[in-house]
Amino acid sequence: MIHFSLRCTNGHEFEGWFRDGATYDKQAKGGKIACPECGATKVEKAPMAPRVARSSNRGELSPAEIRKALVALRRHVEKTCDYVGPRFAEEARAIHYGEKERKPIYGESTPDEAKALLEEGIPVGRIPWVPIEDA
Ligand SMILES: [Zn+2]
Repeated sequence: MIHFSLRCTNGHEFEGWFRDGATYDKQAKGGKIACPECGATKVEKAPMAPRVARSSNRGELSPAEIRKALVALRRHVEKTCDYVGPRFAEEARAIHYGEKERKPIYGESTPDEAKALLEEGIPVGRIPWVPIEDA
């Protein structure tokens, strides 16, 4: 599956999932994709952009904006996932193999541990963990 941000001729942005890029092209050309807001079938791919406000005039994120986005990401993870600390690799493995209840977790792992998890097919992600000092 592939995900595209789409925009209709009236400027509405919406999201679409397609089996692959060719499927999208075929559906778009055939007028099979309709804007959920106005029903327009003339749509195009909107430029992929991180969902954070941009203020710099060149459309690039400033370090402060990137930091803000990472703080938001961290807060989201802290709110929705259980913190397991340095036992992350152990917990992720236990959940993956069904020894523990399936739930989102976060914690610390060494690069070696993360690599081993990925090699076992256990989905783990790494995000830059910014300090929230001005919270
Ligand atoms: Zn529209």
